[in-house]
Amino acid sequence: MLANQVAVVTGSNSGIGLGIAEALAAAGASVALNSFTDRDEDHKLAEDMAARTGSKVIYVKADMSKGDECAALVEKAAAELGTVSILVNNAGIQHVAPVEDFPVDKWNAILAINLSSAFHTIRTAVPGMKANGFGRIINVASAHGLTASPFKSAYVSAKHGVVGLTKTVALELAQEKVTCNAICPGYVLTPLVEAQIPDQMKTHNMGRDEVVKKVMLERQPTREFVTTDQLGALAVFLCSDAASQITGTTLSVDGGWTAL
Ligand code: NAD
Repeated sequence: MLANQVAVVTGSNSGIGLGIAEALAAAGASVALNSFTDRDEDHKLAEDMAARTGSKVIYVKADMSKGDECAALVEKAAAELGTVSILVNNAGIQHVAPVEDFPVDKWNAILAINLSSAFHTIRTAVPGMKANGFGRIINVASAHGLTASPFKSAYVSAKHGVVGLTKTVALELAQEKVTCNAICPGYVLTPLVEAQIPDQMKTHNMGRDEVVKKVMLERQPTREFVTTDQLGALAVFLCSDAASQITGTTLSVDGGWTAL
């Protein structure tokens, strides 16, 4: 379905980005994986994904906290794979602290990686998408792009910013056959989240199921994690012709979180 398309997925050597990249490659797109590291295992991820899916997959090191490296990621993917027609802005970090104690360097890093990186990749990719007459920009925001939680001032601000950027870019590109949307996941079962479960079980003296349902998924009415496969399938759908009139909006995948 996505043969001839070229996708860049930022922050895709683990978790949600990796899941979305896998789904896009499985649908036939050539894919550039990315993170800020340059380890053998990063390149191996790309090789293995290419072997599994039969699509071209490369790994490009670029630090999404730096504007020039965000632009270079899109340029390198275009040089190696062809004009970038699918851009998934997924890279993100978190830090939790009361606003009066929030470390200024953490605030700056969260705004740079979670929000400004999307501006830099979008500004670099858009001319090619316009010339192509086809483009799909998918920003991975969060339920925290629509609601807030205490102690997450930087993350919530950045994710609300991503939603604003999404709407603005969608309007600017509305007649260019380029869509721009934000996926807003609730709590997703990534390796990072999985690794927190044993500690939470100890802290709360609960079994796995109980700690997941009563503590971790307290705000997610289904009391089930979202999976990276589900987000990958949604990204592939957003790249399809069926989704050509979906633009400038948020797609919640949050088990009912934002209905509360
Ligand atoms: P993760 O830590 O597994 O993935 C984050 C990715 O970003 C990793 O590949 C990491 O290497 C990369 N990254 C971090 N800093 C980077 C930098 N400076 N340059 C390039 N890459 C960098 O976490 P995840 O849960 O998969 O999160 C992915 C996205 O989904 C984030 O934007 C996050 O805010 C969002 N999200 C996650 C959840 C969840 O429950 N896991 C829920 C809603 C939204």
